[in-house]
Amino acid sequence: MQIAEEAVQGAANAMQSAKRVLVVSHIRPDGDAIGSLLGLGLALEAAGKQVQMVSEDGVPAGCRRLEGAGRVLHRPEGEFDLVCVVDCSDLERTGSTLLGRGQPDLNIDHHVTNLLFARHNLVEAGAVATAEIIFDLLPAFQLSLSTPVASALLTGLITDTIGFRTSNMTPRAMRLAATLMEAGADLPQLYLDALAHRSYAAVRLWGAGLSRVEQQDGLVWTVLTLQDRQATRYPGRDDADLINILGAVDGAEIAIIFLEQPDGRVKVSWRARPGLDVSQLAVRFGGGGHPAAAGAEIKGSLSDVEKMILEQTRPLLEINGGNRVQQ
Ligand code: AMP
Ligand code: MN
Ligand code: MN
Repeated sequence: MQIAEEAVQGAANAMQSAKRVLVVSHIRPDGDAIGSLLGLGLALEAAGKQVQMVSEDGVPAGCRRLEGAGRVLHRPEGEFDLVCVVDCSDLERTGSTLLGRGQPDLNIDHHVTNLLFARHNLVEAGAVATAEIIFDLLPAFQLSLSTPVASALLTGLITDTIGFRTSNMTPRAMRLAATLMEAGADLPQLYLDALAHRSYAAVRLWGAGLSRVEQQDGLVWTVLTLQDRQATRYPGRDDADLINILGAVDGAEIAIIFLEQPDGRVKVSWRARPGLDVSQLAVRFGGGGHPAAAGAEIKGSLSDVEKMILEQTRPLLEINGGNRVQQ
């Protein structure tokens, strides 16, 4: 682990003296958000802490069979000695959960764009998932790796690497997966739950997005409207991972989804092939992420944001050259 020893010690000391701990993750949660939330939360509970685990947008279907998923709250209740934010590069990613609660104590994350917003920042951009960092912190925090903790952490690892195939995969992450399996995590089942199984509504949402997919000069993109969500009865506020399908299109150097939001904003998701970096582009629009996967929420109409973002993304391809897709 690259995180400075003093930062880990400072965080461990703060954790040790805390009795009531709040663990929070990000809006529109993915498997790493929930896996990290439950992995840390359940391990702290087993160590005798009073723990609240909060995800403003609840738990996505692929994570609902994880132990503790049913106890995740939409908002915190009461007071806490220690607040720990996981898998968030900035505080806005926690939604409204921490409004009025001051500076969080711990920030455990793997985004290169992390703003180091907490008292103790345990940020390691080389980790494939926040779940990997939480595993590394277990000994320092004097926490144990039970089967439910291992299952939650393996879900984070599987989902953020899209089944161990993203360009940031490391031998270390493969070894960690094996260690988590040895601790009792059921890899095939977790993989099916979190990555393979899809609801009928999710597949219909894909259909709406795929029916108007466009491709030009190495860019592949589509839009998802509020009307699509209504028509398909998709319950989430996310893209049902359609972005990963666009990113797999032959010749897609950068894939983008524009997701209309009810508050006059558009959620933009980028996926880039290895060698390109979309994280700084996302930062420019108030978002963040990783070189190969980033996102931002931008004010404006769907068509205005689509036009503007396509314009702002194209120069990345020009700078980097590479094989363009022919129309
Ligand atoms: P997404 O496109 O939502 O699947 O996210 C891709 C990556 O970018 C993930 O690591 C997210 O945590 C990050 N990300 C997405 N949206 C934002 C945002 N508005 N601000 C900061 N990071 C984001
Ligand atoms: Mn995440
Ligand atoms: Mn993550």
